[in-house]
Amino acid sequence: MPFNWTCPHCNRDQTVVAEKYADDNYSLNVTGSNVGSLVLHLKTIVCSNLDCRKPTIDAAVGGDAGAQVWRISKDKILFSQRLIPQGLAKPQPDYIPAALRDDYYEACLIRDFSPKASATLTRRCLQGMIRDFASIRKDTLFQEIIALREAVNEGRADRAISPETVEAIDHVRGVGNIGAHMEKDINLIVEVDSGEAQALIDLVELLFEEWYVAREIRKTRLARIAGIAEAKKIDRKAPLSAPAVDAFADLKGKETLKPGDGPLERITDQKRPDAALKS
Ligand SMILES: [Zn+2]
Repeated sequence: MPFNWTCPHCNRDQTVVAEKYADDNYSLNVTGSNVGSLVLHLKTIVCSNLDCRKPTIDAAVGGDAGAQVWRISKDKILFSQRLIPQGLAKPQPDYIPAALRDDYYEACLIRDFSPKASATLTRRCLQGMIRDFASIRKDTLFQEIIALREAVNEGRADRAISPETVEAIDHVRGVGNIGAHMEKDINLIVEVDSGEAQALIDLVELLFEEWYVAREIRKTRLARIAGIAEAKKIDRKAPLSAPAVDAFADLKGKETLKPGDGPLERITDQKRPDAALKS
């Protein structure tokens, strides 16, 4: 029964065990529906991450398959959707500007109900990212993408902006109606289907990852390396510092330095144990 799973709330990979998983089917107490007896199916997983512990619940309603137990027939599904969490958004870290994250979450939430509203939000999010991350601001998203490409080609853009990510933007620009309207204002509503809306969501996720997350990881690594280098510097000075002197003091038995001893006296002290060993 245990299976691998990634929590949509906290994004933590984990193995789901029996007590964290439920698969329930309920018969609804009505008759005469066009698909026969109605069944409610709930699939629940509770996250094992102690900092999260949130439930993820998928629900479906449909006509009974007529087996020994209540079970929705595959061709009689009336509704099938995730109840908790709402939308298919992936959790995004706090260092991505809140306005961008909010547009992204909402775009994910409404993708199926209103693809064109979803696409409007992701286009705004895309523009917000180019303005924030690449510091490029023009009249239209289209002009901004052109300027971004030029900046990358000429080596003027942030190092995190690879030619591949600009290609990904160009690629999505070629999808259906999205590209045709990029030359106009981003607030213009574009007729797109949910597949096209998803292509924009995928692009925003890719850029979050390749731009913001990658930059943060690099920053953290550099800080760690700088920290190690700093610690090494302190290590090199260590013979003059108190702990090293104490170590030598151990060799000398109970003899310790008096407070106020200067560095020169300490160095002289440190030579003493060697001399004692030779004699
Ligand atoms: Zn979780």
